[in-house]
Amino acid sequence: MSSFQAPKGTYDILPADAATVLAVREAIAAPLRRSGYGYIETPVFEDVNLFSRGVGESTDIVSKEMFTLTKRGSEELALRPEGTASVLRAALQANLHRTGNLPVKLWYSGSQYRYERPQKGRYRQFWQVGAEAIGAEDPALDAELIILADDAYRSLGLRNFRILLNSLGDKQCRPVYRAALQDFLSGLDLDADTVRRAELNPLRVLDRQARVGAGATGRRADAGRLPVRGLQGLPRAGPRAAHGGRVSFEDDTKLVRGLDYYTRTTFEFVHDGLGAQSAVGGGGRYDGLSEMIGGPSLPSVGWALGVDRTVLALEAEGVVLTAPGATDVFAVPLGEEARRVLFGAVTGLRREGIRADFAYGGKGLKAAMKAADRSGARFALVAGERDLAEGLVQLKDLTNGDQTPVALDALVATLKEKLK
Ligand code: ATP
Ligand code: MG
Repeated sequence: MSSFQAPKGTYDILPADAATVLAVREAIAAPLRRSGYGYIETPVFEDVNLFSRGVGESTDIVSKEMFTLTKRGSEELALRPEGTASVLRAALQANLHRTGNLPVKLWYSGSQYRYERPQKGRYRQFWQVGAEAIGAEDPALDAELIILADDAYRSLGLRNFRILLNSLGDKQCRPVYRAALQDFLSGLDLDADTVRRAELNPLRVLDRQARVGAGATGRRADAGRLPVRGLQGLPRAGPRAAHGGRVSFEDDTKLVRGLDYYTRTTFEFVHDGLGAQSAVGGGGRYDGLSEMIGGPSLPSVGWALGVDRTVLALEAEGVVLTAPGATDVFAVPLGEEARRVLFGAVTGLRREGIRADFAYGGKGLKAAMKAADRSGARFALVAGERDLAEGLVQLKDLTNGDQTPVALDALVATLKEKLK
């Protein structure tokens, strides 16, 4: 223990858990890599206005969740709360939309920062892998992204998740709907917070996290379902919706995302084993965001999947991603000369792609053998002066205790054979 702890709402990813975290990131990345998405990294902080303009004044993220950095006395920078605005900013800045094919397809992986009330599945620093398809209206892209996320979750072995799908309407029908909803909400007895929200972003009042009069969602149906365009090819959820390369989803007319730049298609991936923090990922179309941040019209669609919550979902389903041991061979030198020779041997093994480690710290035989056991290595490489005089090392199989002498110059070949 030191005098310090990780800040509130953050946690360390330690080696014992790292294998799962890395596997989740990799599982989400793999389907994107084979689908034409290019990897992009953007700064961890940006001009605060990128988010307050891009993400919208009326969202929780902007009104209360942003970490801002003070530069010369004024708040000018913000830690990124999400990836989409940054990725779009970077694409526009580099002119990717003019120099390459449309859509520009990008994916990212990184930490995001939100000043949240920490609880299980809700942190102040968390990780997302996200994908964006910028500059095309084709609904097949919406379908592509939903399928790729579904593939990612399935490849990890997750089963108990559902895809909720809704439309938030387009430029024509959204304002009509918005006005109708505002009118309806104004007739309800709502708390001050909700009244304020109803003025700024009434759709947010329908978010399942907000408390709404039960009638509101009913009225929403009255106001006319907003059509989910072009996704009819996807089968609905149900006993007959077999997987077989297609995904199934549920219509959720109550689904409203936290970010207010979404238009038309919106979706969320929810996992049933996570309690309150059930959303493992979400996304949708953001046809107007580019213009909101001063760019040209670039209708786009994207998603961000939460790595932390996906790890929790795997735990909830009891899915264990088996991590291979970190070390195959652990060297135990007996004496100074052996230290020198085995250090060289370990370096050579590593260069041949064999995972090897060494008993550092001048340990005695007993402590060094214990370290070898703890390392999870299959073999210990033991050598003393007598072995070295004969050009040998002892290879001890830690699974059964068998020990065989091996000529030092045959070590790589022998181990490659045994580790096959
Ligand atoms: P929520 O409704 O749970 O607050 P959100 O709508 O704010 O989620 P998005 O901005 O769409 O979430 O982010 C996509 C995903 O990132 C979420 O589905 C979730 O898995 C993850 N995520 C969002 N906020 C957090 C957080 N504070 N801690 C951990 N994961 C998060
Ligand atoms: Mg949120």
